[in-house]
Amino acid sequence: MTSNSESAGTAPQGLLAWEHARFDRITSDLELPEATVCALHCATRSVTVELPLTYDDGSTAVLHGYRVQHSNALGPAKGGTRYRPGVNLDDTAALARLMTWKTALHRLPFGGAKGGIDCDPATLSARERHELTRRYLLAILPVIGSQVDVLAPDVGTDAQVMAWMVRIAAEAGVPDPAIVTGKPVLLGGSRFRAASTGVGVAHVVQRAWEHLGHRLDGACIALEGFGAVGRHAALELVERGARVVGLSDISGAIADPDGLDPQAVQDWVASGHDLASYPDADRFEGSVLTLECDIAIPAALEGTITDEVADNMHAQLVVEGANGPTVPTAEARLHDRGVAVVPDLVANGGGVISSYFEWVQNHQRRAWTEKDERRRVLDRLDQTWERVAAAPFPTWRDIALSIAFRRVARAMELSGELTSPQTAEE
Ligand code: NAD
Repeated sequence: MTSNSESAGTAPQGLLAWEHARFDRITSDLELPEATVCALHCATRSVTVELPLTYDDGSTAVLHGYRVQHSNALGPAKGGTRYRPGVNLDDTAALARLMTWKTALHRLPFGGAKGGIDCDPATLSARERHELTRRYLLAILPVIGSQVDVLAPDVGTDAQVMAWMVRIAAEAGVPDPAIVTGKPVLLGGSRFRAASTGVGVAHVVQRAWEHLGHRLDGACIALEGFGAVGRHAALELVERGARVVGLSDISGAIADPDGLDPQAVQDWVASGHDLASYPDADRFEGSVLTLECDIAIPAALEGTITDEVADNMHAQLVVEGANGPTVPTAEARLHDRGVAVVPDLVANGGGVISSYFEWVQNHQRRAWTEKDERRRVLDRLDQTWERVAAAPFPTWRDIALSIAFRRVARAMELSGELTSPQTAEE
């Protein structure tokens, strides 16, 4: 299947190339008709915007933003917004496709999208971030909306950025809080959204580990990334009796074979220190995922499990908290060694499930309790897990993607998007 970048003369790289390779292999195994494969492959819309920004010191720059809506076959497109250096159209397209498969797999009435701005939010003042958010949102406002494409936080964005977006859209004539999810609770956000992805990852860890015949109680865990996902996953895993023997973030890795206290690490980081300088643990050089442990959880960024990292890992189970953390060749090496990998679209689905419930609550003008929403999110993850773990396929990623491809294809058939040539002539 040819992609946008291929038809423009450049082969897709990184995430998009991995996603295309998996897509081609699995759609070929499923023997889907060519027209179906073509329709599944194509993005509905890709938008690139130029964003002039005046910095606080008076200097100016033009930054680039993107929004890719891959599919709206099952409902409004849905996906996060990244503020991160190096954000580009290919990665955004790959992440938008992943959202389509993820929402379909978890049976949500959403399609898939992703967006972002190539910027370094850590170097921007609050005024600069607000101005950039304003420019970006106004530039894409004609193609988004609560029934069209719903935004959310991702790497480098948070509830504050979502709150700004709601206000900016309202002032531009779209007064609808359901245009974004992951908002502050006071502005219609869900009470469980902030913890949902990490708690969901921990829940899936437990289900998968028990599926492999073990108890989570006392299991040793190494966790990479201590942001929105990693922090909540670590706290929940300890709550469920696991031992977190290693943690890392961009500042480095720390380890303690007797188990770290994630709350104490969180307090240390929240008081302005680097995680790597946490005093009650050893420093660990190299990928924290190569520590002696039972379960490894990449919850930072894409591509962190390289071939070299995979070859040095001890874990029997990898659960992908981040999107796209395992390079396909590394996954093959893990597979050859009998290491099970729970893929991103299964493991980190708690976030988009919670976003869906926030969207529902906004439309109903209701606010559920945190306990109620947590139960609903974990129930939905259980239902997905049972479908994935039961199917007779070689790897959980292939099973999950196959389920998603079939569901999106069926929606396109039912809605008349996939008419056969004969029907079209009639
Ligand atoms: P975040 O920005 O809150 O946290 C990212 C963490 O990774 C930070 O602790 C950062 O220091 C760390 N990090 C960055 N580079 C690292 C490196 N080389 N080694 C170790 N740590 C490193 O982001 P997040 O929201 O937690 O998202 C993490 C991943 O989970 C991303 O792939 C994101 O797309 C995915 N995800 C997030 C959500 C969500 O609800 N936030 C939902 C689904 C998927």
